[in-house]
Amino acid sequence: MSTVYLVGAGPGDPGMLTLKAKEVIETCDVMIYDYLANADFLKWCKEDCEILYVGKKGGDHTLPQDKINELIIEKARTGKTICRLKGGDPYVFGRGGEEAEELVEAGIDFEVVPGITAGVAAPAYAGIPVTHRDHTTSVCFITGHEDPTKEKSGHNWSVYGQSNSTLVFYMGVKNLPMIAENLMKNGRAADTPVALVRWGTRCEQTSMVSTLENVAEDAAERGFKAPSIIVVGGVCSLHDKLGWFEKKPLLGQGVVVTRAREQASGMVKTMRDLGACVYEFPTISINPLENADEVEEHALQLGRWDWVIFTSVNGVKHFWQHLRNAGLDARQFGGINVAAIGPATANALRDRGINPDFVPKKYVAEHVVKGLLDLDIAGKKVLIPRARVAREILPAELTRAKCDVKVLPVYETTLAEESGAEIEKALEEGRIQYVTFTSSSTVENFFQLVKAEKVQDCPHVKMACIGPVTAKTLRDYGLTPDIQPEDYTIPGLVQSILDDK
Ligand code: SAH
Repeated sequence: MSTVYLVGAGPGDPGMLTLKAKEVIETCDVMIYDYLANADFLKWCKEDCEILYVGKKGGDHTLPQDKINELIIEKARTGKTICRLKGGDPYVFGRGGEEAEELVEAGIDFEVVPGITAGVAAPAYAGIPVTHRDHTTSVCFITGHEDPTKEKSGHNWSVYGQSNSTLVFYMGVKNLPMIAENLMKNGRAADTPVALVRWGTRCEQTSMVSTLENVAEDAAERGFKAPSIIVVGGVCSLHDKLGWFEKKPLLGQGVVVTRAREQASGMVKTMRDLGACVYEFPTISINPLENADEVEEHALQLGRWDWVIFTSVNGVKHFWQHLRNAGLDARQFGGINVAAIGPATANALRDRGINPDFVPKKYVAEHVVKGLLDLDIAGKKVLIPRARVAREILPAELTRAKCDVKVLPVYETTLAEESGAEIEKALEEGRIQYVTFTSSSTVENFFQLVKAEKVQDCPHVKMACIGPVTAKTLRDYGLTPDIQPEDYTIPGLVQSILDDK
């Protein structure tokens, strides 16, 4: 017999998912998810997981609730493990209770994985603790969707009006004028602070504070829409003092990361931590070689070389993979000088037990050559394990210095199989502020996937290039590099975007 997990996906920030929820997502056979749940989580599903969208957006129900219930039961009867993923917490205005009842009636086992509800998380991200001893002794979660003027309302406005409870309204934006009106009519002071938090905990978060008397007008003026949480009560006065998330320097800034997926995670995380809305758009795909005979041969006879120069983390990673396949390890490097072209490459070597003999101060091939010549590399035997296609300057310069140079391809890069449509649409809609390029190939591949005119049409979008070579390639496409760090590294690139803001 199968189990159905009713799982809360949290309010939107992908970090706000419980460990248990992640485990269920990773192991389920069928995923049935809603509109508000962050679709990022789906990447954790097993390859053969059946993924079904039954979303709800406002009144537009992709699938009505009774059909959703039927679908869950039908899938459960096949004996599979089912993850029913919902935004926030499944039992807080998520109709999880109804789905659970149906499951009990159908005799199907289920478990609940609570999630962080938007009514707590969105205010917290906007500097509003839903309880605070100076302001309130309770908190009330209320649906704002029920029409407060209808005859048989479930609301007891006099209780809401007369208590000092913090009131948290879900789905209330459309009814904001009526909510405010009813609260004032039933005893809440006209100057009671009210806060609205839209897209709470996500990079798109915005918030505002007003008073019961003015909030409807203020919210309309600022065009506040769903999904928003409305908070009523003294705690909202802490918004300015305790607000922290909206102070993030890149909050809401759309940043495109074009690095290969395997290499992008550090940059993506840093950008997200700074508040940016990151568009992961890997333009390069990194593949192992089909035939590795040559690499393994060199790994076996590494002692023939005086120097081995690594030019990227991938070069290190793939070389080690071949080393391992040949039954070897770092001891092969005994007595050989090792160079890394930049700090990340150097760290990849250190992780594998090699402390490089040389890391240049500036991270482009020209500086590497100069530094190496100072270390008497001229005339020596040099092996450069790297991508099959890469810049020729390093081997060329070393050859000029009478080195015996061997370029050893250890992996291949190809144009990623991505569609540029989503990026083009985001550009058109003004959601992108920065496009980042971390190598010439990211530039070349980006413009194979996205039409250069689409970018040229958006003069406000800034192009950030890691170094002069990448910047030159960008100029070849008729675009100006707006941002270029002094230090040709990812942290340098991030810093120069921050400086630009
Ligand atoms: N089960 C969900 C609530 C679903 S009802 C939970 O526990 O959070 C949908 C309403 O939740 C929206 O209309 C909005 O009021 C609120 N909501 C959900 N996510 C939100 C977010 N990130 N920011 C602000 N409000 C949100």
